[in-house]
Amino acid sequence: MKKYIIWILGLLLIAETVAIVCSAAGIFSANHKSAECLAQSESIGAINESLAAENERLSEINNNLINEKESLAVSLSEASEQILSEKEYIKEVNERLLEKEEEYIVPDSKKEYRSEYPDMYASERLVREGSGKMAYLTFDDGPSELTPKVLDVLDKYGIKATFFVTYKENSDLQKYYKEIVERGHTIAVHTASHEYEDIYKSIDAYLEDFYKMYDCIYEQTGVRCSLFRFPGGSHTGYRYGDDMPLIIEEMERRGFNYYDWNVSTGDGGSWVTAADILSRVKQQSEGRDRLVVLMHDSASKTATLEALPQVIEQLKEDGYDFN
Ligand code: ZN
Repeated sequence: MKKYIIWILGLLLIAETVAIVCSAAGIFSANHKSAECLAQSESIGAINESLAAENERLSEINNNLINEKESLAVSLSEASEQILSEKEYIKEVNERLLEKEEEYIVPDSKKEYRSEYPDMYASERLVREGSGKMAYLTFDDGPSELTPKVLDVLDKYGIKATFFVTYKENSDLQKYYKEIVERGHTIAVHTASHEYEDIYKSIDAYLEDFYKMYDCIYEQTGVRCSLFRFPGGSHTGYRYGDDMPLIIEEMERRGFNYYDWNVSTGDGGSWVTAADILSRVKQQSEGRDRLVVLMHDSASKTATLEALPQVIEQLKEDGYDFN
């Protein structure tokens, strides 16, 4: 019996020990789990923080986008308004142009000037159209004391030019009209008086001045001109009267061709040197295949005469033909 009790007590002791060990293990495991939980909760906290920061950044971007959108909407509406007002302006200008055009349409029955100067027609359509790089030298406002010297330079290089001449009372100068023609150059009408206020004030005034020069050239040389140049170029007349479109229409109806220029030597100015003239020709001829070079033929244009050989040589070097 006693032996049994000892056994039982022994068993109880073992059970207790096992219970204690188990309980200790439980505590240990619980402690371990709680550390893990702490670590996890810390990392969740960090994630939450970074999410909050990201959220803040996104909301900032969102605010910026909203602001951007608002400012774009403002500029878009401003641009639309501007386009609308530009459209309005263009419409207005077009309307004004139409009104002007209507003013300029003169019925044929009112064009009495067409029957004036019945012998004033172009003899032929004299359009000098070369191919490749061409340079047409033109001299305005002559003849002058300088004309024979200009002709000498041109002869030396075998170049033919066009002389847009004006009316000269002086018989010493009058003889040069013929010399220009005899030496193979083209003579053409510039104007008799060269007075912008007079010639452009009406179509009748223009035709009267033109006829005086046309007739003078015919008397002096036997040539009926086909070419002409408006004093100041074809746009100048618009400043002096409303008849410019009619003048152009009438001159073309009579078969005349007018020429402006695309290279201006600037030799009209009083302080221009030969070097200035050459540099302007170089500058303005760049990239052009067809040059109409404006020069002047008058007693004071010694710089033009001096520059002429250099201008010719430069243009030759750049590959231009003249005739
Ligand atoms: Zn002129």
